[in-house]
Amino acid sequence: MMIRRGARSTLALTATALAAALTLTACGDGGDQGPDGRLNVVASFYPMEFLATKIGGEHVKVTGLTAAGVEPHDLELTAKQVGRVQKADAIVYLKGLQPTVDKAVAGSEAKHKVDATAAVPLEDHNLPEGHAEGDGHDHEGHDDGHHHDEAAGDPHIWLDPTRYAAVARSVGAEFAAADPEHAEDYRRNTDDLVGRLTALDQEFKDGLKDAPNRTFVTSHAAFGYLAEAYGLTQVSINGVDPESEPTPARMADVQKAAKENGVTTIFFETLASPRLAETVAKDLGLRTAVLDPLEGVKDQAEDDYLTVMRQNLTALQTALGANTNASANAGASTGTGPAATTPTS
Ligand SMILES: [Zn+2]
Repeated sequence: MMIRRGARSTLALTATALAAALTLTACGDGGDQGPDGRLNVVASFYPMEFLATKIGGEHVKVTGLTAAGVEPHDLELTAKQVGRVQKADAIVYLKGLQPTVDKAVAGSEAKHKVDATAAVPLEDHNLPEGHAEGDGHDHEGHDDGHHHDEAAGDPHIWLDPTRYAAVARSVGAEFAAADPEHAEDYRRNTDDLVGRLTALDQEFKDGLKDAPNRTFVTSHAAFGYLAEAYGLTQVSINGVDPESEPTPARMADVQKAAKENGVTTIFFETLASPRLAETVAKDLGLRTAVLDPLEGVKDQAEDDYLTVMRQNLTALQTALGANTNASANAGASTGTGPAATTPTS
């Protein structure tokens, strides 16, 4: 993508203030470490990019490999992107989510590689609660057409703010090692972000603890860690691959679980088609709503990890029948508003 000269200097001016929003916009040009001596960081997809920009601040130039609004699973890299990974000063990625990125990182000479899964071991959430195990089904559920499966585990650790904070700490430590001159700034930025994530975690705890329903249905099984963190049960239509097609047996399981657990809402996500969720909801006479796995943020000037997570909290509270007044207190100081329910069509 070409960016006109005038547009570019505007980007440069506002980049530090709106780093998360704008560095991605600029990712089509440049690539080498600038003459300004900033740390040249490559981040594999949105949640890694958010950490890198928040923690790196003005001392880093972050290049995202996954464009805004693109589903990161199964990303293919261009030769130019592979070159950029090779030349990066530091890389922030999540091993097991994007095989082509893993390969490029393995071949990179970057001295500073942060693998999110080194900070947070992955768990296996492939079989949702209520899905019978060892029941004589054959092995077809074993490779649902995705690659971050049995060996790697569920990659969606960023959807648990506590686990995400652990990844933030490892990013901060690595940036400090890569650029000791600014270690103090990285430490301060890390502490600030971890503080925000800790507050977010508390909002989720407070906001969901009294919800009478504990089961939610999603199309893509991205919320296993979130469910575990707040005592909820995720039932997924699709498994961890957002684009796979469920079997009729799987659909029957989901419908049964929805009926048995008083489910009111079938969640779909922003980057994949809502068709499946709509079909299931229609069959059961239920509502649909958005639960955003934050694999990409379309409008980064408008939203970031923290605002989208608060939208997710509101959506879960509504679906699970939580008393939203109780949590409004917890969230009042942090900008949670009624407009948080995204009217995505
Ligand atoms: Zn996913």
